[in-house]
Amino acid sequence: MSILVVGSVAYDTVETPFGRAERVLGGSASFFAVAAAFFARVNLVGVVGHDFGEEQLAAFRGRTIDLEGLERMDGKTFHWQGKYSYDLNARDTICTDLNVFELFKPRIPESYRSSRLVFLGNIDPVLQREVLAQVDRPQVVGCDTMNFWIEGKRDELLKTLAEVDVLLINDSEARELSGEWNMTKAARAIRALGPQTLVIKKGEHGVVMFTDAGCFSAPAYPLEEVFDPTGAGDTFAGGFMGYLARAKTLDDETLRRAIIMGSTLASFCVEAFSLDRLVTLQRSEIDNRFLLFKRLTHFESI
Ligand code: AMP
Repeated sequence: MSILVVGSVAYDTVETPFGRAERVLGGSASFFAVAAAFFARVNLVGVVGHDFGEEQLAAFRGRTIDLEGLERMDGKTFHWQGKYSYDLNARDTICTDLNVFELFKPRIPESYRSSRLVFLGNIDPVLQREVLAQVDRPQVVGCDTMNFWIEGKRDELLKTLAEVDVLLINDSEARELSGEWNMTKAARAIRALGPQTLVIKKGEHGVVMFTDAGCFSAPAYPLEEVFDPTGAGDTFAGGFMGYLARAKTLDDETLRRAIIMGSTLASFCVEAFSLDRLVTLQRSEIDNRFLLFKRLTHFESI
């Protein structure tokens, strides 16, 4: 079972009230791949520049992550800089240096084309469709997007969404995409655009999933220390899709467990800068926290 991910591989500079990290490994595909590789083989498609070193690649080595699709171009690696205040749900983007990412044209290696699941990271919706055109029909197509594309390339995004099974976006993006303030109405409008499963992320307030079977809500794990939320959404997606890759059927029970698995992985991501916590994470720690989630959300009927 393998998952194809297409997205950014980046240098991030991040400032939080608790510290600063300069040019550390980031990017949507990086967080996704390391999280998903706990469950399945991950085929990574992205681009880096000549300045991307072996030290950064080390995060991917020794895992079930295939790097044949990680292109190296002449130029500098994509660099993103963000700053958080004490409200860690909100961040300011200080700068986005696209560098080699500006010329990125995803080329899917032959051996990746039969990947059973595909995750389209937050890139131009035209490129997202070009990825789908290069693969055999996957069982699940997951997709992320952002306000930039909702505002700037709405028509292209709508065409992409028609080909997507699971859309993972945050609450403000859901409102903007649907034009509805109410989340339930927003979910109905977005699901009518294509994605049968809609996962709305609400940062430290957890996630809500909408499917044909109804609605499922999960809190974020109550951590005492949240250090850096960067990458939490992509890590969530990695845990979610990774769990689905292992599942025999994609019924509502499976999707619910996948939501908790995504939340579990994301809860580790935010404990440290960059992928620092994810690269030391053990499978036993994931299983323990998954069980704590069950206790956290369990209640008896009256
Ligand atoms: P998240 O916190 O899940 O939204 O993801 C943060 C990651 O997305 C960072 O590691 C950034 O490198 C990456 N990122 C930020 N802006 C963009 C962008 N415009 N395109 C692609 N990746 C981005």
